[in-house]
Amino acid sequence: MEIPMLDLSEQYSTIREEVLLKLDQVMSSSQFILGSHVKQVESDIAKMSKTKHGIGVGNGSDAIHIALQAAGIGEGDEVITTSFTFFATAGAITRANAVPVFVDIDPVTFNIDPSKIEAAITEKTKAIIPVHLYGQMADMDPIMEIAKKHNLHVIEDAAQAIGSTYKGKQVGEMSSAATYSFFPTKNLGAYGDGGMVVSNSDELAGLARVIRVHGSKPKYHHHVLGYNSRLDEMQAAVLSVKIPHLPTWSENRRKHATYYTEMLNDAVSKHVVTPVEVEGNYHVFHQYTLRVERRHELQAFLKDQGIATMIYYPIPLHMQPVFKELGYQEGDLPETEKAAKEALSLPMFPELKQEQQDYVIAKIMEFYL
Ligand SMILES: *Cc1c(COP(=O)(O)O)cnc(C)c1O
Repeated sequence: MEIPMLDLSEQYSTIREEVLLKLDQVMSSSQFILGSHVKQVESDIAKMSKTKHGIGVGNGSDAIHIALQAAGIGEGDEVITTSFTFFATAGAITRANAVPVFVDIDPVTFNIDPSKIEAAITEKTKAIIPVHLYGQMADMDPIMEIAKKHNLHVIEDAAQAIGSTYKGKQVGEMSSAATYSFFPTKNLGAYGDGGMVVSNSDELAGLARVIRVHGSKPKYHHHVLGYNSRLDEMQAAVLSVKIPHLPTWSENRRKHATYYTEMLNDAVSKHVVTPVEVEGNYHVFHQYTLRVERRHELQAFLKDQGIATMIYYPIPLHMQPVFKELGYQEGDLPETEKAAKEALSLPMFPELKQEQQDYVIAKIMEFYL
């Protein structure tokens, strides 16, 4: 059996007719940039996020950059975030001319540990970016409390967590802004790049809307420096077909996660740690990530059996050569460094079949037992 990390063609076969019809509509209308599909998707995703505004942008990385700039963060400001994330989180902070300040993670959730945030706050701190890693929201209550006390923005990097909730609250509902990615492999993936900023702030959203069109408002008048970063109509058309399916897809991911967890805990609990959904959270399992013993051997063994696995992320951001000047040393963020050595993600997508999961589980058992 060959089991990929995810199978986008399987999903496409279920929505093909609708997608082709929508793409034909876009091409027939010849309205390719900031047309009706983008407007509709912005409104649908803002509604889903319980925010007043949605601003479609070029990708999830630009969404973070634009949200920071729209929040007034720039030269010399410090932004607290996690080192255990995709590069884009800290890359966007740096591109906004601000400085990323890394805080260690909670080993249970892999998300930023709120109890470590206050020690990292200085006079220059302007914002916190929690990343809702693997599809589970970070512990937002203490984060929002700290932000309020120190007058900081909170921008949620929700690239992996569209549709997740925390104590009944949506992504974007509590913070200054949240950002999504529609990269094809994300839970709501377009057929190319795409992203969105959602926000309840009229001011932040208004600025974000202007920044994505070179700061032009009214047209050809530039009061702020922006760039060209927009969600395009073709991608919005694809998303408009997918959005109604998202709740079912999330539910399916959750079912597969529960199944993996039950079976693996029964069989190999001495060798692997299964992911934990914190009480009150609705985890959307963008990734199903274990901590495992003898990771590289296990990964090679599974590969030989036709099973794809991935390591998200092998090198924490504070150890990346490009951030050398920030001055971090190995040992500065022990939980992050430990997670980077132990994490292994298994195949996870809504269309995953039970036979496929059984095969993965059987092969993991075979490796350890
Ligand atoms: C994917 C991702 C991004 C970047 O999104 P792109 O659309 O690829 O630019 C940012 N942060 C996290 C945590 C991601 O997983």
